[in-house]
Amino acid sequence: MKTKTFPRGIHPPEYKDITANKPIEVMPPPEKVFIPLHQHFGKPAQPLVKKGDAVCVGQKIGEGQGLFSASVHSSISGKVLSVEDYFHPLGMPILTVSIENDGEDRPLQEIEKTEEPLSLSPKELCNKVKDAGIVGLGGAAFPTAVKLSPPKDKPVDMIIINGCECEPFLTADYRLMLEFTDDILMGAELARIATGAKRIIVGIEDNKKDAYALFQEKSAGKSIDVQLLKTKYPQGAEKNLIYALLRREVPRGGLPFDVGVIVQNVGTVKAIWDAVHKGKPLYERVITVSGPGIKDPKNLLVRIGTPFQEVIDFCGGIEDGTNILLMGGPMMGLSQWNPEAPVIKGTSGILALKTPVSFKEYECIGCSRCVEHCPMGLVPTRLAKHVKYNHLKGAEEWGILDCVECGSCQYTCPAKIYLVQWIRLGKNIIISNKRKKSA
Ligand code: SF4
Ligand code: SF4
Repeated sequence: MKTKTFPRGIHPPEYKDITANKPIEVMPPPEKVFIPLHQHFGKPAQPLVKKGDAVCVGQKIGEGQGLFSASVHSSISGKVLSVEDYFHPLGMPILTVSIENDGEDRPLQEIEKTEEPLSLSPKELCNKVKDAGIVGLGGAAFPTAVKLSPPKDKPVDMIIINGCECEPFLTADYRLMLEFTDDILMGAELARIATGAKRIIVGIEDNKKDAYALFQEKSAGKSIDVQLLKTKYPQGAEKNLIYALLRREVPRGGLPFDVGVIVQNVGTVKAIWDAVHKGKPLYERVITVSGPGIKDPKNLLVRIGTPFQEVIDFCGGIEDGTNILLMGGPMMGLSQWNPEAPVIKGTSGILALKTPVSFKEYECIGCSRCVEHCPMGLVPTRLAKHVKYNHLKGAEEWGILDCVECGSCQYTCPAKIYLVQWIRLGKNIIISNKRKKSA
């Protein structure tokens, strides 16, 4: 069967067989949740509750501030214990609402369901998505209502539904595609209506042929095109996916809007359907808990705010010899130093690994492997050197801001140079300098 793809990239071992055949299990809500008010791209939400308040499941506890922000909802019913700084998976303290579970799981009565969601206007749909606090569930946590509102001068003709899940180990999206196919297709249709796009394409990697066959069967007779993509990392990165499916190139510094496209992850469109049709805000999500350090790996539906440690305990605990805990996949995931950090909207997985760790970098031998594999056509070795020697202007000229931090360069580097860390550091300094300047 013919597959589509993008230039360059890598083929890391997949390790998806550990959890691919495990249906999504529902993890019972924990005794306490710790819900950060900042779990998304943009400004943190403003707290709407205080210590001692009673809350219901789905109640808004933080209000998104302005365009680039997202509201936050309670994932359990109970009493607010505190609103103060707490550990966050990003590694810094963040204002967090901690709630003690009353064991009743009382839902909020006022959440409005929509019997005819397909009849809503684009504005009504966007408002419901915004109110439900939906963000991109593929990991970037970009506010979805913003994505569904393309600028007037940038009309969108195509919605791409991203079913690649190209990170090793992760199978949460795969299970969603098998178990909630209809919800994903309905959510995709709502996203199409909201943006005014003409067509929907679902892109699925060829290591998930059963999901591909199911989507083909369920979308027969509809204006939905289901395409098979080559299994390659990072196939799911937006710009690569757009090129692979449509041969459209997002310009340097540009966004998918610039080529008439919006990309939504399968979990995100399911969340859109749940919000609009069932009146359910985003207070839980499906994650993969896997790796050689987890005793009983699973795909789990977990309440937002559940501490990682409780999720790990639900999966049998940690194996001896485990030395790395990650939020997300092994290529783009974030190392965790505190297992009390909570599951947030952007948590696609929790991985426990047993891997030899070396902090020694060797000299670059000029082999050019990093260049040959960079999906963005960058020169990672040069970018890292510019940052190392504080030549940020040069790094910018060589396109550092186009780096998607996929880690392909570092994966292939025989000198074990921390290319992504150097590049990420450079990007952060450049972006922060730009913000200071514009302020
Ligand atoms: S430079 Fe950036 S985009 Fe290119 S391979 Fe490295 S991490 Fe990926
Ligand atoms: S892969 Fe590593 S050693 Fe080879 S050119 Fe790039 S940075 Fe240098």
